[in-house]
Amino acid sequence: MRIDVISAVPKVLDSPLNESILKRAQQRSLAEIIVHDLRDFADGNYRQIDDSPFGGGAGMVLKPEPIFRCMQKLLSERKYDEVIYLTPQGVKLNQKKANVLSLKSNLIIICGHYKGIDQRVIDKFVTKEISIGDYVLTGGETAAAVLIDAVVRLIPGVLNDSESALTDSFQVESGFDSPVYTRPAEYEGMRVPEVLLNGNHKDIAAWREQKGLKKYNKVRKKKLNNK
Ligand code: SAM
Repeated sequence: MRIDVISAVPKVLDSPLNESILKRAQQRSLAEIIVHDLRDFADGNYRQIDDSPFGGGAGMVLKPEPIFRCMQKLLSERKYDEVIYLTPQGVKLNQKKANVLSLKSNLIIICGHYKGIDQRVIDKFVTKEISIGDYVLTGGETAAAVLIDAVVRLIPGVLNDSESALTDSFQVESGFDSPVYTRPAEYEGMRVPEVLLNGNHKDIAAWREQKGLKKYNKVRKKKLNNK
């Protein structure tokens, strides 16, 4: 998968994209993530990327020209499956949407800043507006890090078997993953549930499902599959 990110503050993405699982995905050539600095597509010595909003009001708006130029360059080089604008006004990201996006080949992610991006960019290029939750961030870069992480870890081969994404919350039917424990079996008077020590895989699977479901129902106040 190739992901092109268009950003006014690309440095924000340096660490999230270059550590841990995302670093490994790129080293294994399972994901190629390229961050484009909007200023490289701006005019003049000042390389201005923002301007005040028509109609007045607080905040600045990312100008259309630099984003149009970057988009036109990328679209002239290859076909993209989706052009995503990260915005609090988008459809909310969830595991199902991450699963669908993980099957795509080429994605563009546009990060807004200040008051947002000129609407004409959205009208011309954007195929999906995605939000990571009902709150407002300073810029789309932190949301891009979340989206890219959620998607790339689902690409086959990115996670090692022991980290399998298939047993995580929202992938399993019970809604949540179960509690996890590691050695020692007893610590500060607290003992690991006996079922996890007895080696009976059927019992362990049933215990895990029940624990995940119980917590899901408690936290989200929803019943799944009438269990
Ligand atoms: N004026 C915009 C509004 O109220 O809808 C918010 C702009 S916000 C300060 C700047 C940028 O951060 C947005 O353009 C968007 O790219 C990003 N952003 C903020 N919150 C987000 C969220 N919940 N999900 C995804 N992106 C978000």
